[in-house]
Amino acid sequence: MKEGRIIKGIGGFYYVDYNHDIYECKARGILRKNKKTPMVGDQVRFSILDPEKKLGILEDILERKNELIRPPVANVDQAVVVFAITQPEPNLSLLDRFLVLAESQQLDIVICFNKIDLLQKDDYLWMVDIYKNAGYPVLLTSKENNDGINKLKEILAGRVTVFAGPSGVGKSTLLNRIQSNIKLQTGEISVKSERGKHTTRHVELIPLNQRGWVVDTPGFSSLKVDFMEEIDLAYYFPEILQSKGECKFNSCLHENEPSCLVKKRVEEKEIAAERYESYKKLLEEIRLNRRY
Ligand code: GDP
Ligand code: ZN
Repeated sequence: MKEGRIIKGIGGFYYVDYNHDIYECKARGILRKNKKTPMVGDQVRFSILDPEKKLGILEDILERKNELIRPPVANVDQAVVVFAITQPEPNLSLLDRFLVLAESQQLDIVICFNKIDLLQKDDYLWMVDIYKNAGYPVLLTSKENNDGINKLKEILAGRVTVFAGPSGVGKSTLLNRIQSNIKLQTGEISVKSERGKHTTRHVELIPLNQRGWVVDTPGFSSLKVDFMEEIDLAYYFPEILQSKGECKFNSCLHENEPSCLVKKRVEEKEIAAERYESYKKLLEEIRLNRRY
């Protein structure tokens, strides 16, 4: 039996990447009986039925490390969250929301500030500092002179990556610099199936030449955070998580509680005020949307 990764699923067939050879596989009945539905991104065991035609049969699905819902992909390693330093003007509270969503899925995160050809360094360095101080790796890129592109290649090598960020920031352009055949799909594209029915396009993993895969659809199309618990939000802000256990109350939400070390660190500018504001805003949103 071989071990590979599902990169695409269409009409009951699963396409398994095994050392860059793609095998068309059907799922064995036992999988369906055990209510295990294969997902794009799954690592699977499969047997080869026909090595010439590259046909196989899925035998088993290995345990998933995580499962994104939108787009539906399993075992994503990291999110590259792309924002432009200008054009469009960066909305940092939206950036913080993307970071929280990626953190909640246990993804590694790289922040990519793109279009650095459009501003002088002094005009955007403050943003870079906020996120470096928060503990994130920050990559600066531009399509103009290929700034940061080789670094981005290194970051993607051997891993499953989802790109996220608002439209117009340059996600597709960046990916195209990495590999010319990559096309990032946007929105819910509706395609006609053989029976003439409209169906939603399926998500795919794009194999990279230098090993690794990129999800062909931008991550986190639902920006809702209401599935989270208030108390968990602090886990998704690395610089707040760092103070865990140091506030007076164990259940401290770092708002108006007495002897809150997080508030103190904001006052002392160790934690960026912008980040703390985002935290409070998201906390309020979770609270307002609580269903009980
Ligand atoms: P996406 O919606 O995030 O995939 O963004 P696109 O890749 O479609 O890029 C949106 C626009 O920004 C296009 O007109 C690109 O040519 C432009 N763009 C992308 N990267 C850069 C960059 O590094 N510098 C400049 N000046 N423009 C860029
Ligand atoms: Zn606190």
